[in-house]
Amino acid sequence: MRLSRFHLTTVKEVPADAEIASHRLMLRTGMIRKLAAGIYTWSPLGLRVLSKVESVVRDEMNRAGAIEVLMPSIQPKELWEETGRWEKFGGQLLKIKDRKDASYCYGPTHEEVITDYARNELKSYKQLPVNFYQIQTKFRDEIRPRFGVMRAREFLMKDAYSFHLTADCLATEYRNMYDTYGRIFTRLGLTFRAVQADTGAIGGNASHEFQVLADSGEDAIAFSTGSDYAANVEMAEALAPTMERPAPAQAIERVATPTQKTIDEVSAFLGVKPEQCVKTILVRGTDGLVALCVRGDHEVNEVKAAKLAELPGEAALADEAAILAATGTRPGFIGPAGLPDSIPVIVDRSAAVLADFVCGGNQDGTHYRGANWERDARITRVADLRKVVDGDLSPDGLGTLKIARGIEVGHVFQLGSRYAEAMGATVLDDAGKAQVMQMGCYGIGVSRIVAAAIEQNHDDNGIVWPEPMAPWRVAICPIGAAQNAQVREEAERLYQELGERGIEVLLDDRGLRPGPMFADMELIGIPHRVVVSERGLAAGTFEYRRRGETENQALDREELLRRLA
Ligand code: ATP
Ligand code: MG
Repeated sequence: MRLSRFHLTTVKEVPADAEIASHRLMLRTGMIRKLAAGIYTWSPLGLRVLSKVESVVRDEMNRAGAIEVLMPSIQPKELWEETGRWEKFGGQLLKIKDRKDASYCYGPTHEEVITDYARNELKSYKQLPVNFYQIQTKFRDEIRPRFGVMRAREFLMKDAYSFHLTADCLATEYRNMYDTYGRIFTRLGLTFRAVQADTGAIGGNASHEFQVLADSGEDAIAFSTGSDYAANVEMAEALAPTMERPAPAQAIERVATPTQKTIDEVSAFLGVKPEQCVKTILVRGTDGLVALCVRGDHEVNEVKAAKLAELPGEAALADEAAILAATGTRPGFIGPAGLPDSIPVIVDRSAAVLADFVCGGNQDGTHYRGANWERDARITRVADLRKVVDGDLSPDGLGTLKIARGIEVGHVFQLGSRYAEAMGATVLDDAGKAQVMQMGCYGIGVSRIVAAAIEQNHDDNGIVWPEPMAPWRVAICPIGAAQNAQVREEAERLYQELGERGIEVLLDDRGLRPGPMFADMELIGIPHRVVVSERGLAAGTFEYRRRGETENQALDREELLRRLA
């Protein structure tokens, strides 16, 4: 590509509303342009990168035996009613009406459409297993679209859906997709982890997220220093402490804490460590309020809490009025000692081994010190309730946990029969009997990968593309071409030669001064830069520099071509 004929619009100014590096750099390089909240145009430069990601994904999916299809993005309401998701999907579902007043949605995902396709197309077990995939634009009306294409409303996804006669066969394909995802992210040059993920309301047997490690990631992941255990923090089990609970040594005593409500305030005021306090949170249960107790230095894990039998599938904080009505106390002073009997007290494993602890006094402006379980405070049940923290034992018993941040770029899921059952997708087995199909689904955030790669690969000068994602591999930068015919000719010759060898090459023939020209090439992250100058030609060399390095190397033509091949 000759840059003079391309459309490159880089800017120096750092966009004010872009909070993370990838968003800033995608705007500064002109890769994307915002049309509306969470809705972006991909410029020619951006599209080159997006297409590279897309083609690696497509290539590996094909190699893995999946078959490409293309489903409509507009989907009829009736299908979503069959699975109950027209309501359940909530505000993320963009609903639209046609001129006849019929309701549709813009597809946020395609389980319904593919299951409809499968129930019509697949009649016999002999057609199974099969894995259909597509690469397509999705729309989700995210509450908080942010970080550019990282969490957009309109985005590009690869979604795949496999169909099987048996759960064993599904497990085999799940493994195949898991391995395929590993190959895709490795090929793209990303540092990632496959982590165990929560299966949420859908249930099912297994689910893994593929997380690109980056400090700006929205997800927290826990991984072991002593094994390959890795899980989303939502999912990671906090093991029970091996110690027994000590016998009570202190008498319970009510102390005045007039304005101290938070654990930090209370522990500082009373001179005890947060880990010697019990934090009590009241949530809405299926039948009145439920108390959740964790150690003062721990946090309630809402995903774990939501699965408690006493809760309606979500952990929603009780409001102040309900707390006041049930306990006569305002939030901030609630504790397990002396709570009304109607409120179940679910205690985290680590909190359950405390003795002589500090907790809320169930009376405004007071706390207890010297409180003890059983003697002073009921335990309805001990459960794993908290978020794991750095240094916890790994759930597999090998090593300790570290917490890192990640960007979810892929998700694989064994759905089982959930959708096939709801939509009556069956095939005949070898005995001629109708069987509900087993299903797996496998998503990749194609557009999110572009942003995630930048988060992981940038410096002060701009993007440092992993080679497989770079818009071009080589940039040729002629210096003083307008005044020097030899520079012009040599740059042109090199450009032709690299092109003939199938190397994607960009010739910067815009006639810029070296400073701005180099700055642009660094900003857009081209992995290899070759400078053609009068001085170099006089010495029979080109000036070569790899993106991210600070030294130039003078190479003759042969050595240069060898390097770039
Ligand atoms: P998240 O937890 O980030 O909202 P999700 O669990 O809703 O993701 P899936 O339904 O599993 O995502 O979708 C498959 C993939 O699509 C995700 O792994 C992610 O890479 C990508 N994706 C999901 N939502 C968005 C979005 N709003 N913008 C860009 N990519 C997205
Ligand atoms: Mg989501």
